Amino acid sequence: MASLAPRSSPARAAAAIALGVGLVAAALVLVVADSWIAAAGFVAAAIVVIGAVVAWRLLAPVAADGARAIDWNITRAVAGASADAVAVTDRGGRLICANDAYEAMFDGFPTPPGLPLDEEANAALAAAARVAWRDGIALVERVEGMDASLTATITRAGDEADMLVWRFAPTEERDLAMTARFLIGGPTGDRLGEAGIMAALMTPHGHVLAANAVLEHRALGHPGSINGRDFVDLLITDSRGLIRFEREGLEGTPLRLIQVPFLNGQDAPMLVVLLDDRDDTPAPGTSASAHVRSLVSLMPFGMALVDREGRFLQMNDAFLRAAGVEATDVPLYPGDLVVREDKTAVADAIRRFAAGATHSTDMAVRLKDHPDEPVALTIAGARGLGDAAVLLSLKNNSEETRLKREVAQATKMQAVGQLAGGVAHDFNNILTAILGHCDLMLMRHSPGDSDYDDIQQIRTNSNRAASLTRQLLAFSRQQTLRPQVLQLPDVVSEVSNLLKRLMGETVRLDVSHGRGLGAVRADPGQLEQVVVNLAVNARDAIVAANPQGGGTLSIHTRAVTPAEVREMEQDIMPAADYTALSVTDTGTGIPADILPKIFEPFFTTKETGKGTGLGLSTVYGIVKQSGGWIFADSKPGQGATFTMYLPVHTVDPATLRPAAPPKPAPKPSELWGQGTVLLVEDEDMVRAVAERALTRQGYTVWTAENGEVALELLRVSDRPDLLISDVVMPTMDGPTMVRHVRERYPDLPVLFMSGYAEEQLRRSIDLDNVAFLPKPFSVQQLAEAAREVLTRP
Ligand code: ADP
Repeated sequence: MASLAPRSSPARAAAAIALGVGLVAAALVLVVADSWIAAAGFVAAAIVVIGAVVAWRLLAPVAADGARAIDWNITRAVAGASADAVAVTDRGGRLICANDAYEAMFDGFPTPPGLPLDEEANAALAAAARVAWRDGIALVERVEGMDASLTATITRAGDEADMLVWRFAPTEERDLAMTARFLIGGPTGDRLGEAGIMAALMTPHGHVLAANAVLEHRALGHPGSINGRDFVDLLITDSRGLIRFEREGLEGTPLRLIQVPFLNGQDAPMLVVLLDDRDDTPAPGTSASAHVRSLVSLMPFGMALVDREGRFLQMNDAFLRAAGVEATDVPLYPGDLVVREDKTAVADAIRRFAAGATHSTDMAVRLKDHPDEPVALTIAGARGLGDAAVLLSLKNNSEETRLKREVAQATKMQAVGQLAGGVAHDFNNILTAILGHCDLMLMRHSPGDSDYDDIQQIRTNSNRAASLTRQLLAFSRQQTLRPQVLQLPDVVSEVSNLLKRLMGETVRLDVSHGRGLGAVRADPGQLEQVVVNLAVNARDAIVAANPQGGGTLSIHTRAVTPAEVREMEQDIMPAADYTALSVTDTGTGIPADILPKIFEPFFTTKETGKGTGLGLSTVYGIVKQSGGWIFADSKPGQGATFTMYLPVHTVDPATLRPAAPPKPAPKPSELWGQGTVLLVEDEDMVRAVAERALTRQGYTVWTAENGEVALELLRVSDRPDLLISDVVMPTMDGPTMVRHVRERYPDLPVLFMSGYAEEQLRRSIDLDNVAFLPKPFSVQQLAEAAREVLTRP
């Protein structure tokens, strides 16, 4: 962990000074405005600013002497999130930097996922890290350990998406409990005490976690720590059921005990409020209900008071936020907040509690505002609170739900991608056999022959099928890309003629480019396909909206700064420089219920024969494989916009040159070969075709149906000149077999054939000096590949 910076003492000093200034300022606010809320706000703001300063000071030196220069985006992302424990690791799993909160949470700088948690938690983190590398983001809820329950968010970041940012935050319940504890034990508690309210936060087993000073004094008789005491031991009940402090005895003032609905769950802490139950009614303004109202308004979680008739008396800000209502537009009844189906249940429960039901109840309700995500509403009865008869608490979990949904969507796309990749792989084997047999037959027929045209037809159709499997591989991000550094406007201009033709007479094409666009690194051919696929969909939507003709397709490029990404308020795309390309149409638009599905393969709303449902999934695969992001935006009837963001690639402009032209195909006579080839392939049909093709080219071919058979064959025979093998085979795979063979013949040339992408294979196959041939291949391509490997110097 050499690259971690030592704690910087000037930063500490700066923090201490800033904290001092913040507290003095808060004290002034308190004197001038006489408002604890404003003062607390001031302290909170000061802490946030100081947090940012400290994080900045601590992280900047790490960047300076780190093993690798950290880009500003990551540093900023980490500093911005400094309230949580944050760490950054690189591709090699090394810890590059971490903040103070991280050190405090984990007692030092362990490298995630090797944290001082239990095995299960670390395994969950490791799995999530793999998901984050793949999909950009992953979430682990409730990582248990270190006496706390944490939520971990792992985000891929960095200009080259080569870092992981790990963020650990206490789960929201714990966060709220901590805030409540702080409020009760701190000045807010004193203020409640002045108003005659005693408040305590307790464990589910009744042990005191925090209490305000008045309660402590009344219960113990002296200042001292009440924390950890069993609350029930501090109270006595008389024959009439009245509760008093044990210390004050039966002469003491009876108490009213109110359990405030706070957090859900068995392990959640309880909030208890005690009021003196005097017969003499308190003076107006200091009435119990007035006290409780001030308590409600101070609480950091959503709370509301309801009267005996079931009408709202008060809601605090957190409740307004969670319920999604404006302070100026508060409904009369709680039932008005929820969807029609839940109205009766809410009204019934409130009536029951207003009539005296004691235990609190939790119910999942759907708010009118966002009916798709149920929220937890806790209802409890309140005795002796003046007008207030029922207490409600509402938890705002929309942020959590949104994050969960995004992660679930990414995971689903990945699963579908794996399936598509698997199907494409098997299909490529079948196509290899079909194409191979066609090629072999064509060699025996000449044009003009009665069968020649039919065989050509089979071959053409098989090639079409092969291009479909390529699309599937593109979607599952297993396609071989040939990335180059390029400018997006060049890609658009390359296809603009084609686009004009595709749009026809009636659809206007409107292309515009922003200034200062950064170059991106991607496969130009694939990006052209992205633009064409998006444009074709747009045209279809325009025509569907207006069959008489008329409409506009706009293609626009622009530079996007990290600040703009942050403003977009989405958690998936890391803040960085991007070049964006958007395709906007004036078509039918996409209904909200369809929008989440459009990138899935085979999802189409077009009639049979018109849509394959592969257009957008291909687009998605290409964009993802190029390290980018794509989002669709639409309001039905107002057209749709697809925006692709590709990370800006920073390079020397001199390297921006077009790719070398492809080599001309060799003549058949140049493909003639000789020598012995060992062919290992588990699919009989592929093996048979390849064997015949190679034999025709003049090679002596030995075949084996798996790795073990091949090794056995080599044990009893001489050295072959070339080994051609499938990669994935049952029992022993190609690479393992080649490793054994190389022990005996270290320089034996090897050619792997596979239905998966070369890049993917090269990464997973740790062998030097091997060549790849993607399936499906023609007889000619196999001959070319064999010949090239054999004649290589
Ligand atoms: P296909 O075009 O073969 O149906 P795609 O994957 O390209 O497959 O698109 C999937 C679906 O997404 C389409 O059937 C259509 O419902 C919807 N869609 C895509 N682009 C647009 C657009 N620009 N406007 C409206 N709907 C669209």
